[in-house]
Amino acid sequence: MPLEVRIPTLGESVSEGVIVRWLKANGEQVRADEPLLELETDKANVEVPAPGAGVLQRLKAEGETVRVGEVVARIDTDARIEVTAEKPSFAGERKVPAGPAPAAGDRGVAPAAPTATTPAPTDIPLSPAVRRLLTEHHLDPHAVSGSGRGGRLTKDDVVVHLRTAVQTAPAEIPPSQPARAEAHIPSATPATPTPVTEDEIERVPMTRLRQRIAERLVQAQRSAAILSTFNEVDMSATMELRSRHKARFAEVHGVSLGFMSFFARACVQALQAMPIINAQIDGADIVYNRHVHLGVAVATDRGLVVPIVHRADQLTFAGIEKEIDRLARAARDNKLGIDDLSRGTFTISNGGVFGSLLSTPILNPPQSAILGMHKIEKRAVVVNDAIVIRPMMYLALSYDHRLIDGADAVTFLVRIKENIEDPTRLLFDQAYDLVVIGSGPGGYIAAIRAAQLGMHVACVEKDAALGGTCLNVGCIPSKALLDSTERYHEVKHGLRAHGIVVGGVEVDLKAMMARKEKVVQILTRGVATLFKKHRIDWVQGLGQLAAADTVLVKGAKEQALQARRVLIATGSAPIALPNLPFDGTRIITSTEALSLPAVPRRLLVIGGGAVGLELGSVWRRLGAEVQVVEMLDRLVPGADNRMAAALQQALERQGIAFHLGTTASRADASAEGVRVELQSNGKKSEVVCDAVLVAVGRRPYTDGLGLDRVGVATDQRGRVVVDSFYATNVPGVFAIGDVIAGPMLAHKAEEEGIAAVEHMAGVAGHVNYDAIPSIVYTWPELASVGLSEEQATESGHQVRVGSFPFVANGRARCMNETDGLVKIIADAQTDRILGVHILGPRASDLIAEATVALEFSASAEDIARSVHAHPTLAEAIKEAALAVADRTLNR
Ligand code: FAD
Repeated sequence: MPLEVRIPTLGESVSEGVIVRWLKANGEQVRADEPLLELETDKANVEVPAPGAGVLQRLKAEGETVRVGEVVARIDTDARIEVTAEKPSFAGERKVPAGPAPAAGDRGVAPAAPTATTPAPTDIPLSPAVRRLLTEHHLDPHAVSGSGRGGRLTKDDVVVHLRTAVQTAPAEIPPSQPARAEAHIPSATPATPTPVTEDEIERVPMTRLRQRIAERLVQAQRSAAILSTFNEVDMSATMELRSRHKARFAEVHGVSLGFMSFFARACVQALQAMPIINAQIDGADIVYNRHVHLGVAVATDRGLVVPIVHRADQLTFAGIEKEIDRLARAARDNKLGIDDLSRGTFTISNGGVFGSLLSTPILNPPQSAILGMHKIEKRAVVVNDAIVIRPMMYLALSYDHRLIDGADAVTFLVRIKENIEDPTRLLFDQAYDLVVIGSGPGGYIAAIRAAQLGMHVACVEKDAALGGTCLNVGCIPSKALLDSTERYHEVKHGLRAHGIVVGGVEVDLKAMMARKEKVVQILTRGVATLFKKHRIDWVQGLGQLAAADTVLVKGAKEQALQARRVLIATGSAPIALPNLPFDGTRIITSTEALSLPAVPRRLLVIGGGAVGLELGSVWRRLGAEVQVVEMLDRLVPGADNRMAAALQQALERQGIAFHLGTTASRADASAEGVRVELQSNGKKSEVVCDAVLVAVGRRPYTDGLGLDRVGVATDQRGRVVVDSFYATNVPGVFAIGDVIAGPMLAHKAEEEGIAAVEHMAGVAGHVNYDAIPSIVYTWPELASVGLSEEQATESGHQVRVGSFPFVANGRARCMNETDGLVKIIADAQTDRILGVHILGPRASDLIAEATVALEFSASAEDIARSVHAHPTLAEAIKEAALAVADRTLNR
């Protein structure tokens, strides 16, 4: 008996449509309700189903216009029986012995009694769920395509079949409604749908975006085994942290601090710990994603889009926030690129912005999980057995159960909850007890001492190597060159007096420089090793105070470090002179003077302090004509006058010329060299040289540090102002070393670093500023500790002075190093030592005895009565101490 296929009623205002395409071929076996053709009306495209099973005979061609009610095909139902009987199925065919009858009381409801349209129990083996569905919906099992093994019907097949049938009844199911099978399965014999008049509804074509969303949602439901799990999170800590940092965050990063980024970071950390949640199924494989590409649902007026924050695992909190901001703006302006929407591995949706308290998000295939955020709402919760009101948020995780076990899903959600309830580690890349900015001798020693005291420490350094000025471009390379050139000078000029004649002595400047570099490298790497040993994190990049407890590090990547305390140890930088700007080759700082590629014929040093005299000595020994210009009428400001004068004489004997009481007012570089204008007592003169080393001092280095942002006070010279605990005016922020007041010396910076962190740890840190030795590493060396004679007198002491020349010291004689003297200044009444000054060989080592003496408030007699080994240079100190009481023994 042939069945007629007629165009169904499609709504009152729709009277005809065009056959877009036939979905079944002429003569093909079709099943009941199977879509036969696609019809385009002026409202929508609809599929026309087969009214019964059989062989199709098409009467109309594609492209033809057909009217509602018109017959477009016939179905030969007799032919169906034959074909069905031959249909192959599981184990070769579907006509297998009858299965058990549906169990009465399945799901607690008696199955519907067979009706005229209910198919009789069949010979196909059916699972109870399939049997129930077929019975409830009066379906012929032959009409449903089986996707199980051998074509066997699964529950999913029936659900999909029913859903397809539903979709072909547009008047009954609004197109925008999600295709949830259970919700739309007709429960009675299919009847002619009651037409809905068009004035009862408004029909709007779906946007392409909405169509895509709809497709993907349906695809997700069909292609994965979706399960959801729930938890709730206390938002108090995140809200508090956000409100505390949001103004600063917006100011520093130019984007506002939202809740989404906290969840994004929490997800990234949890996904890294549980990579299966970030994985997906591909055929028979599980594909693990090396990076987290985070889909972040953004509401637009055209619907919800999910742009992707790519490699979210490599972004800082601020980086994620900026990317979300960019994507959200692009989404709203309809400017998202295809890449912005591709390759997501996990998604976060936020129903909370619409007020949703709890919902189950739907997967975004091929991703395997999606987190749903919701509205923050105050609720009564139990904390420590007490009922308290807290801002709470429900969390939902929908996941593909084929891949993710329930336990993993629950654990993942618990991790998110823990992260959000302890959000500091989300906002900050790391949290520390102490963040030290600067790895010079002040910073790195402080970091080590802090670690010894049990602190979790990071040291931020902008330069590639640790060690600061001292190890890289200061104390160490300068001493390496001084030692090398001293040897050269000794071989050339000193050995003959010992009866050693050496010929053909040459300098290999390249090798000398390479040795210096090696020394530097060994020591700076040594600091890195010490950091490892003490578990100190070395964070490379420019450190910036974003808040009193936040250090932003701008390096290869940007990081935010949270710090209970911050120690500024950023050191100093060379001061430039007006009209003599540094050019790096001819008007240079000490840094370039440590690495000149060739010995300059004429070197002008501006500044008669330690750095100028040391580097002047280096190049003089290597053959340069060296002149030193000093504004004061003496060398080494602050040193004892007599000692400074003796040093000057010693250096003059080495061929260095001095212009004291002179300033350099301008320099002009030309082909013949640098022409430097000097001024002295109102008179102008000129020096022409090949290079000008400007060594007039150093300024505290705070460039880019963000002191203003947090309000750290500095003095008129730009030095950070600290109290006796090295605390600045901003609680939690401390400073030490060259960046604060006091002598710019490595050991002073070190001792301050130690004292500062000891104070932080509640230990009694201590720096005795009256006993800080200071050394000029020329030859002879000038070393001093305590007051000069002038300073002692100026500060009201009556002094007794004892001195002893190295010319009378046995060991100095043996060494043929008789230049210089030891001078001790003691209080005339108490004999307490006020200052010790040594000009002589290895004065830098000898001064240690004097420093200890000052530290212990020793008298000159204490030193005089201490046994000194013979013959040693140190005996000169004992003799000078005896001289304080006018009782030298060897003079
Ligand atoms: P520095 O050693 O200057 O270290 C500061 C560090 O902080 C640097 O590495 C810098 O890159 C880093 N930094 C700065 N800002 C930032 C930021 N925002 N973020 C991250 N990192 C930052 N002193 C002596 O006692 N004996 C000597 O023999 C001696 N010889 C010297 C020779 C020369 C040629 C020079 C120039 C100096 C010499 N000094 C000497 C002085 C000595 O080097 C300094 O006093 C000492 O290095 C100061 O230590 P510091 O830790 O305070 O700072």
